[in-house]
Formats: sequence, C-alpha cells, structure tokens
Amino acid sequence: MTLAAAATHPTDPAAGQVDTHCPYCALQCGMTLRTGARTAIAPREFPTNAGGLCQKGWTAAALLDSPARLTTPLVRVAGELRPASWDDALDLVAGRLRDLQAAHGPDAVAIFGGGGLTNEKAYLLGKFARVALGTSQIDYNGRFCMSAAAAAGGRAFGADRGLPFPLTDLAGADAVLLAGANPAETMPPFVQHLRGAAAKGGLVVVDPRRTPTAEQASLHLAPVPGTDLALALGILHAAVADGHLRQSYLDERTTGFAAVWRIAAAYWPERVERITGVAAADQRRAADLLARARNAYVLTARGTEQHATGTDTVSAWINLALALGLPGTPGSGFGCLTGQGNGQGGREHGQKADQLPGYRRIDDPAAREHVARVWGVPAASLPGPGRSAYELLDALGTEGGPRALLVFGSNVTVSAPRSAHVTERLSGLDLLVTADLVLSETSATADVVLPVTQWAEEDGTMTNLEGRVLLRRKAVDPPEGVRTDLEVLSALAGRLGQPEDRFPADPETVFTELRAASAGGIADYSGVSYGRLRAGEALYWPVPGDDHPGTPRMFLDAFAHPDGRARFVPVTHTGPAEVPDAEFPLRAVTGRVLQHYQSGAQTRAIGELAAVVPEAFVELHPDTAARAGLAEGDLARVASRRGVMRARVRCVGSLRPDVLFLPFHFPDRQRANLLTNPALDPVSRMPEFKVCAVRVTKEDGAA
Ligand code: SF4
Repeated sequence: MTLAAAATHPTDPAAGQVDTHCPYCALQCGMTLRTGARTAIAPREFPTNAGGLCQKGWTAAALLDSPARLTTPLVRVAGELRPASWDDALDLVAGRLRDLQAAHGPDAVAIFGGGGLTNEKAYLLGKFARVALGTSQIDYNGRFCMSAAAAAGGRAFGADRGLPFPLTDLAGADAVLLAGANPAETMPPFVQHLRGAAAKGGLVVVDPRRTPTAEQASLHLAPVPGTDLALALGILHAAVADGHLRQSYLDERTTGFAAVWRIAAAYWPERVERITGVAAADQRRAADLLARARNAYVLTARGTEQHATGTDTVSAWINLALALGLPGTPGSGFGCLTGQGNGQGGREHGQKADQLPGYRRIDDPAAREHVARVWGVPAASLPGPGRSAYELLDALGTEGGPRALLVFGSNVTVSAPRSAHVTERLSGLDLLVTADLVLSETSATADVVLPVTQWAEEDGTMTNLEGRVLLRRKAVDPPEGVRTDLEVLSALAGRLGQPEDRFPADPETVFTELRAASAGGIADYSGVSYGRLRAGEALYWPVPGDDHPGTPRMFLDAFAHPDGRARFVPVTHTGPAEVPDAEFPLRAVTGRVLQHYQSGAQTRAIGELAAVVPEAFVELHPDTAARAGLAEGDLARVASRRGVMRARVRCVGSLRPDVLFLPFHFPDRQRANLLTNPALDPVSRMPEFKVCAVRVTKEDGAA
C-alpha cells in the first residue's frame, strides 16, 4: 500500500459517512464516522493503524452526544456557575482582561493551551496571546509531555520531528529498542509495527514494569526508576567495547563523540548493573541486538523522558543510536513517540512560551520580523519568552505573576504535577476562564466556562507522530449553543480592539495564514494546503512549496544543523531529584491505562470506558502490600512530600518490590499528581512526573 493511496478513502457527508481520525492520541488512527440516527465509528485502513483501533477509538463517538456536554456559557455568580448568554460571557471576560492588564500590565493575563488542539487553534492561540493581549505568559500541556524529547532532538539533529520517518518503516527492522514506552496499552495498533523485530528476536523494551509491551519483548530491561540515563551509558559502553562503533558514520555525519566517550568509558556494564539493577549481560545483549541488526531503531517515550534529567536522558539514547550509525540511515533511525493527538503540531506553531510559528524561536530577531510581518504588527510589539508551564502555574496569583488565566484544551487541576499546590494557585486568580467540552475539574473551579466544539464537529488539521499533516473534517453539527475555539478567540480579539480580519474564525483561512507564518521555519508548512490534503496527499513536513512532495524521511542526506552533522551531547548520570528514604521508602511511577486518555476528562465521561477502569489503582508487589498490611482490593493511602492520594490495591508479582505504579487519569483524592515532584529539567522545563519517593499505608479515612 502506498502512503498516498492509503489516505484516499471516499468521504461522503451526504451519505452520512465521513473519513476522519481518532480524537485522542498521536497515532491518529484512521476511522469512518457514520452519522444518521445513531453516530457510530468504523475502523479505516490508514498506515498508522492498518485498520485497527483501540477501545478509546471505538467509543469516541459517545462523547459527541454525551449528556455531560456543556451547551451554554457558565458564569460564576455568588459562588455558583450559572448559565449566561455568549455575549454576556464574552463581554465579561474581555472587560476583566482589559481591567487587569490596565492595572497590572500585559503579563497579568496568561494563556494555557493543549497538545490536543488543532494546528489552527495552537497557531491562533499563540497569536492571540502575543498580539491581542501582548502577553508573554503562554505555555501548554505539551511541556508536560514532549518537551524533553523535543529539546534533545533539537540539539542533536537541529530539528525535532518525533518520528523523522514513516511508522511503517519499522516493519523492516530486525531490532527495535523501546525506552519508556508501553504502546500495547497507550496506542495498541502501533504494536503491529513491532512484530517484525519481535519475530526476529530483536524487540528490546526498557521499562521498570513488566507491561503488556514488555511481555512481548525479546529482552526486557527493568531499570530502577530514574536510572535510564545510566542504562543508556552502559549499553553504549558495551557497544563500543564489543567493537560495534560505526566509525565511518561518525567521521562523515557527526561531531562530538570523544567527549561522550570520556563519560561513557566510566560506565562499564557491571558498574551500571549496580546503579540500574539491569544485569551486565543483558546490557551487552541489548547492544549486540541493535549493532548486529541490518536495520535497527531506538525509540523513546514518556517513561524515559519525564524526568528532571529528561533532556539528558534522551540525549543518552540518541548518543547510543548515533554510535551505531542509525539516525538518518535508510531503514534505521532514532525517534520519540509523541503522545497527545496533536502533540507534534501543537509544539510547532507558537503556543509555547519560547516559540513563534514554524518552530521558530521567539528570541530570534529574524523570526520575529518574519512572523510580525505576517501578523501585520511591528516586531518590537511582540513580547519575549514567557514562563514554562509549571512555572506559569506556580506564579498564578502571586506578586508579579498573572492575575487571569485562560485555559484551552487542558485540565491542569488533574494533569499538572504537585496538583494540590496548582489548585491553590488557581484559586488565587482574579479570573479563571476555560473553554471546555465537559465540566472538567479545572472548569468546575473557573469563573467563566465557554462550551466549545470537539473533533468531529469542526474542520482542522492535526500533525501525527510521524510529522504527517492530516485534515480532520467536520462530520456532524455541534450541539446548539456551542462554538469553536477559533470563534471564541475571534470574538474575544474583536472585543479587545483587534481589527475584524486579524483573527479569522474559519479554519482554512487560519491555516492559510499559518502556512505563510511557518514558511522558511524548521516546521515549514508553506506547501501544505487543505486542497492537497483533501486530495489525499501524504504530506510530511517540511513542505516548503506548493510543488514540494513533503519529507517522509528526514536527515537522509544531512542533519538540520548548519554543517549538516548530528551532535553527540555529553551527558552523565545524576539520578532522580528525589530518592527514597526512611520516611518515603518506595518509588512511585505514574502512567496510563488503555481505557483512559490524559486527565480522563473525556474518557471518564464515556460509560463503556469508565466501567472497565472506574477508579484509581495502585500496583504493588504482593510482599510490599503485605508489609503495609494491604491485600488485593483494599483502599491504600499513598503519600509523598507533596500530598496524599487514595487508590485501590492491585498486587502485581512482576513489579519490583521497591516500586509502585499509579495511573494519572483520576480526579479529586485519586489524583496521582497530588504526589508528583515538580523538579524541572533545566533544559526543557519538564517536571519529574515519572518518579518520586512515597510511602503506602492502609487507608484509615484520615485526611
Ligand atoms: S487512542 Fe490512539 S491508538 Fe487508540 S484509536 Fe485513538 S489514535 Fe488509535
């Protein structure tokens, strides 16, 4: 099947059938939405899912007519959210924003976006912040998701595209090393792309838990949480010591190996075994499997990235891949698995604190000139970089911090680290506004809630985990009373004094402007158009012109640094920001389950999914549970230095006795993020979601 052919399936809204993509993760599985008396979903052949869907995708239509949908603006009056007209709600928001900025300056208003927003929304949100509000205070939940991998990819290769090759290339691999990824639960149709490597005995999975993905591995390496960087150094050491260094590739395509080896030379496998708990023989076997493969890939995901050393940890995996000559080599490579639906496009078009559209830096004078010209404003009027996501949330309502926050496509009350503190910061605001489908936990505390459309109710583009731009078409009318995020931004911009045509609400018009703003940038979409996407073209960025075919495989001729070479980056193991002690003797790892997506705001509203996993659970080794006086099904109290949460005990014999696992999709007292550590990676500002020190006891009902 060719890539282009795979995209061209008929869409016939008149016949009640629209080809679209799943609203959830970055695999963006192809599906057909059948409308009519009852809306239903059928899987569709598309290269990423090859006709498969997971349970989330199958049930996605349930949210379209869910009774949980918001259909009227809500305004808090005397402590209660009450229905209001759109005009009243928007007038109120615009008036309060103007007053707060007049009293405290432009940065008194902040914006928080999301990695599930379409490219058009991410773009217009960034423009709205910088032009309509003049604030530097904008960031998004992708900071909590992809930022470490993005930073490491940028510094090694000069450009960050999660997978710089089509996913289907994995089918030809003899070996794949997956570091911190559990696609068998997070994106099940992905797993079929690993079957070739698994069948050849070359699937290596790095994960402290024996996940369903690890069960399928030829080799499962289970490091102590927070020691992945040391493990990558150990495998690199083994590869070099066993004569697998690709010297000609290093000479022709890279710089900086000597500095990396000065560090890796001191991480021989036996030493690394003492740090990570992974047997030296297994480290050597992993190196051997990758090095002897004709085609091999190293892929990372959140398990190895969401650490206070996340960028350096990903750099360590990239160094291993470079030493073996994989990136930019046909049939081999390095990549990271983007999580959120538009986690790729969402990090390219300007909703990040330090960024302008096209993956440009906001502190680059040439980038500012270019984008300001497209926006019709002076470059000097654009603010500089703002605070990163956690730092922004931490500053809310404080002296010198934002006094108002507008949230689009995010549920920070559940998804931010140290979430009790974040909830407290939200309550210190003068104005909290959310745009939401359902009354999420964040919206429930807002002053104004604006009901907005979702995936199948609007047109928009998404960029999947391969950097392929997809057109998601409107299939059904939204419920009466609901508006699109673009309409909300357009209406607010008008009330803030912006010219009518500067903030269009039509997605295709916004995309046309995005093309111009991204032209010449790293993520160049100037040659992507709705017309080409409607015609079924498979366009992977960069697409720098109407006649350009797109770039399915990046880096084959050169990396994106000016000299065309990839950079080895010297990194060393320091360990997690917080280690267990007598008071908090266990390591907590957070993650996802198959039935829920992110904060669970959408999937918890779908009965079929909520019925399977209705509440938070904690996985414990049976011995650990017994020591705490706990048994299967008991309610446990899990505490860290930042808070306490409750979860139902599941005993898992394959888990390390010093580790417990918590899914992060649940609200209130079941929030795993009540525990997590906001220690930030100095490069990407990624919080350390993946490991913190905890203790577990039997729930006694005490606060
Ligand atoms: S959630 Fe991800 S894996 Fe599941 S159907 Fe949707 S896009 Fe596919």
